[in-house]
Amino acid sequence: MLNVQPLVQQQRTFFYTGQTKDVSYRMTALRQLRQGIENYHQRILDALRADLNKSEAEAYGSEIRIVMGEIDFALEHLEQWAAPRQVPTAAALPDAVSTIYPEPYGVALIIAPWNYPFQLAFGPLVGAIAAGNCAVLKPSELTPAVSKLTYDLIHELFPEEYIAVVEGEVEASTALLKEKFDYIFFTGSTGVGRIVMRAAAEHLTPVTLELGGKSPSIVHHDADLKIAAQRLVRGKFLNAGQTCVAPDYLLVHKDVRSQLLELIQAEIKDKQGDDVLQNPDFPHIVNTRNFDRLSALMEGEEVLIGGRSVRDQLLIEPTLLGGIDWDSRIMQEEIFGPILPVIEYDDLNPLLDEIVSRPKPLALYLFTQDEQLQEQVLNTVSFGGGCINDTLSHMTSHYLPFGGVGESGMGSYHGQQSFEVFSHLKSVMKRNA
Ligand code: NAD
Repeated sequence: MLNVQPLVQQQRTFFYTGQTKDVSYRMTALRQLRQGIENYHQRILDALRADLNKSEAEAYGSEIRIVMGEIDFALEHLEQWAAPRQVPTAAALPDAVSTIYPEPYGVALIIAPWNYPFQLAFGPLVGAIAAGNCAVLKPSELTPAVSKLTYDLIHELFPEEYIAVVEGEVEASTALLKEKFDYIFFTGSTGVGRIVMRAAAEHLTPVTLELGGKSPSIVHHDADLKIAAQRLVRGKFLNAGQTCVAPDYLLVHKDVRSQLLELIQAEIKDKQGDDVLQNPDFPHIVNTRNFDRLSALMEGEEVLIGGRSVRDQLLIEPTLLGGIDWDSRIMQEEIFGPILPVIEYDDLNPLLDEIVSRPKPLALYLFTQDEQLQEQVLNTVSFGGGCINDTLSHMTSHYLPFGGVGESGMGSYHGQQSFEVFSHLKSVMKRNA
């Protein structure tokens, strides 16, 4: 088995030199990372094309731009985030001064998935560096071109004792998880999240788990249907539906169902062309195993839109399925592909009860003008984060912590929260002697 113990030890020794605690050291590292990404720009685009057939526009917009935005935001605010924070002290101790010192945990492990293989490895890394940690990055083996470039880029920029990449399959993760890290940041499936948390428990290592699940989208009868169709199509079919926060299924009021479906069909044509299977820029399913899993979910179901696929190209066209109820097979697992099951409703209340009785979703999207309904849904359903009258956009804000709740994860990041998540807040009270 891969022996990563010397690497982790090397990083711990380096961490104790204190160099990474210096804010200017972290800023230099972030600037180097920014420059490195710029130098690798074309290679990143090529790798995302090779691994998932992402177009340059999609690869840039949903991966590189997001990481660059995180770096720039951190560079702009890091001195303020890292500074000791003085807070009030109880009147009973008039001579005391209370201060919170954000300090890095030490050596962090970041495990990334394959669906946004660049963004979801480098995004958390920005937080780890900003907070002053050393880090080991484990990219997904299912996107080998991005995994290799992650190794090359990091290897070129940083000594292994500071930031290192360990490539490999499950064995590599398993070997890493045996070691004692000071923080583990995992993005991936709920099932593997449980394995990670179990391993972390051995060393009492704190974890962030960015997991998945079934994210509902709801279109009420008073919604602007054109906008709903546009934003659902964008959110659902970006990366061919292989997005953790993609709308997993659609609940639509019966009065607007047929009109919404027409608009969705027109929007798919407008954005993806008359025949998506001939569109050279539509991402493919990551591998045959997932292709076959998705095909099985479609089997025997009523096709409302799309439904065709080409196995040897791993392509599935945007597909909407009807005749679905909560017991349908496709409603039992996260879909993670370009298939949107549709359930119509007359009264939303029993559907909200059903959502609440299931694992807490990572995201929820509600299309309605009705503010009372917006309030009701926000008050009734617990979910990681989401949008009203949009999809996905909440995850692009530096000011909205991004993460799941319950089975869709724990902890959050983005913007300042990426700094906080990799920092321990050390509280100190100082009194006169
Ligand atoms: P995955 O859990 O299979 O793999 C994620 C990482 O864990 C990979 O690096 C993989 O090598 C490693 N891994 C796999 N099996 C392991 C094991 N037994 N022990 C230790 N490590 C193991 O997830 P995936 O298929 O790469 O990604 C898809 C899932 O990730 C979906 O559920 C999706 O919703 C979720 N996801 C969540 C977010 C988020 O931000 N919340 C983002 C992207 C993806």
